[in-house]
Amino acid sequence: MTVHPTSNPVAPTSRWMAAARARESERPDRLFDDPLAAALAGPEGFAWLERMEAAAQSSGPGLYPVIRTRFFDDFLLKACKESGIRQVVLAAAGLDTRAFRLEWPSNTQLYELDLPEVLDAKDAVIEAAGARANCERHTVRVDLKETDWPKALLTAGYRPESESVWLIEGLLFYLTWNDVHGLLEKVSTLTAVGSYLGLDVMNTGLFFSPVAWPMMAALARRGATGRFGTNAPEKLTAIHGWETNVTQPGEEGANFGRWPRPMLPRKIPGVPRSFLVTARRT
Ligand code: SAM
Repeated sequence: MTVHPTSNPVAPTSRWMAAARARESERPDRLFDDPLAAALAGPEGFAWLERMEAAAQSSGPGLYPVIRTRFFDDFLLKACKESGIRQVVLAAAGLDTRAFRLEWPSNTQLYELDLPEVLDAKDAVIEAAGARANCERHTVRVDLKETDWPKALLTAGYRPESESVWLIEGLLFYLTWNDVHGLLEKVSTLTAVGSYLGLDVMNTGLFFSPVAWPMMAALARRGATGRFGTNAPEKLTAIHGWETNVTQPGEEGANFGRWPRPMLPRKIPGVPRSFLVTARRT
């Protein structure tokens, strides 16, 4: 995925995520298996992963997406299997292959929303591999910063009156405050009571931490500048009508025996953090 002057510089980060999933898939103790990930990542994805790990001087830029992937795999499947939900919306789906990897209940409709250039490149790889989805997969080519993307989702067959489960994974960090709240507001208008929402968000400490600065600078140099963080992820979704749970990677339910450091309590300030948020529409 070559970045053209007019294209969104966040688009190639989808390849970095795919590279992390490809590397995970090679481990004997892998948390998931993503056979399409290496082809989706391509050399550019592995180069991003290497550069970000070098900048961070840690395996964090590879491990975080892996923990997050497995955490939200479990969340999405639980919502479908235990609550009978049959509509799944992956906002900023990137090169996510959950439509192919996971065993969905029959008649699950799965909507992947992302930029046209990302979904075009993804579909080319999927077609070449001859992969078949385990659900009804719908790709919806949209810019989530625009106001009219809900129309495209509705046209693709999504029914707002029925319960759904949404995931906004790896996106909010790159958006402005206005775009984050604009997006969450639209998601709320599109979801019936009882629907579920998962998302990940960084804290503000990440933006001021000398530890995180080299990686933030490396991202900014590539145009993928980090813009949004919050220390109150519960409030972020609560004000849009969601009852929220927050887990930090490494805590119970998001550890999987793989997170290397003990988690510092949230009351300790100045620590860079990420939050895995799950919520239910009230
Ligand atoms: N959720 C995927 C994952 O975890 O592998 C992809 C995460 S990747 C870090 C960020 C994704 O956000 C990219 O696929 C990018 O194209 C998408 N994105 C960024 N800005 C967007 C926008 N304005 N509209 C739609 N998608 C956007």
